[in-house]
Amino acid sequence: MSRVLAFGVDAGSTTCKAVAVDATGTLVASRLEATRPRLEEQAAAMVAALAADLGTAEPPPVVATGYGRQLVRVAVRCVTEITCHSRGVFRALGHGGTLVDIGGQDAKAIRIGEGGRPVDFAMNDKCAAGTGRFLEHTAGRLGVPVAELGTRALAAREEEPISSTCTVFAESEIISLIGRGADLDAIIRGLHRSLVGRIVAMARTVGLEPPLILSGGVALNAGVRVMMEEAAGMAVVLPPHPQLMGAYGAALLALEQ
Ligand code: ADP
Repeated sequence: MSRVLAFGVDAGSTTCKAVAVDATGTLVASRLEATRPRLEEQAAAMVAALAADLGTAEPPPVVATGYGRQLVRVAVRCVTEITCHSRGVFRALGHGGTLVDIGGQDAKAIRIGEGGRPVDFAMNDKCAAGTGRFLEHTAGRLGVPVAELGTRALAAREEEPISSTCTVFAESEIISLIGRGADLDAIIRGLHRSLVGRIVAMARTVGLEPPLILSGGVALNAGVRVMMEEAAGMAVVLPPHPQLMGAYGAALLALEQ
């Protein structure tokens, strides 16, 4: 590993990520924590901890992204998640396409152009039903860990359609399905179908240029990946460490400083 030259911090609504890159832009270390209410202190502590992990007395330049990026006081610059995810994914995969980043509280579709620059994007930050929060909320209601949702959706032999387009109404629908004795995995599959339908419709608004690429924490959900391939009719590609792509892109921009 060559010397660590830059850090990126992605202060997200659900998780806070910090990554380090070396002079070649290779991701060499990272930290990820659930976002706490005192984001300013958390980000500073994570940067200090990452520097300590790497044995660096002084942290290198930091670029911040994510919804709480303005609270990352150690940053030399704040950059949008659209730009950072595009840059991170382009570098990690070596090509562009249509990127879908699904985080805890919002989802974005980004068409990646030359050099990893975003050429068009669409965003949903108004409605929880197209985000990771929708899955987290319903997982809690069903008593299933979020990390198991995807495999259970794929293992289901049947599917219970969820017609509500709102998290709150979907929850009422789930309660009545449970009351009717519906299979839990079939409900989970229906929830995934609903989320994926919304996401693919949003991605179509920027033009579905293959391949479809997934980043953000929801990319770790195998059910979302497989059902997106079915819905979009094209391969879905994942970068390594999809949840770190925003922070990675920020670190690459810090390297250019
Ligand atoms: P943000 O950057 O907006 O804070 P993330 O990109 O970290 O959010 O995504 C958080 C979401 O990722 C959660 O709401 C959850 O749905 C999903 N998620 C996190 N870890 C996993 C996992 N191991 N398996 C499946 N989904 C996950």
